[in-house]
Amino acid sequence: MSKRDYYEILGVSKSASEGEIKKAYRKLAIKYHPDKNPDNTEAEEKFKEAAEAYEILSDSQKRAQYDRFGHAGVGGQGGFGGGGGMNMDDIFSQFGDIFGGAFGGGQGGGFSGFGGGGGRRTVKGSNLRVKLKLSLEDIVNGVEKKIKVNKLVQAEGVEYNTCSTCNGRGQVTKVVNSFLGQMQTSQACPTCRGAGQSIAKKPAGADQYGMVRKEVVIPIEIPAGVEEGMQLTVRGKGNDAPGSGVAGDLLVMIEEVEHPNLKRDGVNLHYDLYLNFADAALGTSTEIPIVGSKVKFKISAGTQSGKILRLKGKGIPEINGYGRGDILVHVNVWVPQSLTKEEKSILEKIKSADNFNPDPNAKDKGFFDRVKDMFR
Ligand SMILES: [Zn+2]
Repeated sequence: MSKRDYYEILGVSKSASEGEIKKAYRKLAIKYHPDKNPDNTEAEEKFKEAAEAYEILSDSQKRAQYDRFGHAGVGGQGGFGGGGGMNMDDIFSQFGDIFGGAFGGGQGGGFSGFGGGGGRRTVKGSNLRVKLKLSLEDIVNGVEKKIKVNKLVQAEGVEYNTCSTCNGRGQVTKVVNSFLGQMQTSQACPTCRGAGQSIAKKPAGADQYGMVRKEVVIPIEIPAGVEEGMQLTVRGKGNDAPGSGVAGDLLVMIEEVEHPNLKRDGVNLHYDLYLNFADAALGTSTEIPIVGSKVKFKISAGTQSGKILRLKGKGIPEINGYGRGDILVHVNVWVPQSLTKEEKSILEKIKSADNFNPDPNAKDKGFFDRVKDMFR
């Protein structure tokens, strides 16, 4: 098979900058990523081809050799031996960071390698994602929740052998002859895929990595002040990894359950208070039942409908632990919708009183009061 030109593969010019080459490779690597193209050998070939081109063109020395001598100048050189292209493990261990979180371990099983840089690769379990509904009470006070997840754990009774191909080192070295002379290269062990060990014995029901799914309850601390759409990462509580690998993370997506009476606005809460006319006129003390307790406050005589009272520091704590929002109480004076004869006659008697009619000079005061209250 004659090889395509590396610049052509990446779709860049011969004078492309390092940045342009990286960008072009990243685009192709994401397009042909095996996670996106399962069981698609054509995509896999393109993925490998792009990685090989990137391996050469991203290294100024190799790029110079390639520019001078073409494929012959770089064949057999580099960390992957023989110019026979790269295998998938090499690509992930060498260039995994190029994906920058574009493939962060999906829902299901599977393990992603990380580390690289020689020696045994650490195998990492994939992340688990869960949604968690929280009440306003939970959000205001913070809460410990027990989350039930179905996660991959190592099966009981799995026995491991040290890999005989690499003697547990996780990588193999070989000597390659190239036109530049003999070179020693090392690569991930093809037998154990870099883990350094293989499964000797596993119980029935375990998968090829010696893993089983198990329902596990994970207690997690939710800090006060979280909000809808926020994602909490609980390190090491995702799927376990086989052997001596490290577990993935548990990603908890917060969902808020709407409160029947309190509307959230950042760290502030809004509450609609309905007062009867007499209480608004005479003044009263009232309370709002919120988040496990009650907030008492006074309504002064002559409080107008539309006034906003601010209960300082009774809102939601800032998630960073500094400060706390307010509760904004919106006063609504309730107008009765049906009246008895007696009530009617009382109202008839008092409605003509001078001070029962709106003061024309005070007409706009309600509005200014409100604005002033909101920015106080
Ligand atoms: Zn091995």
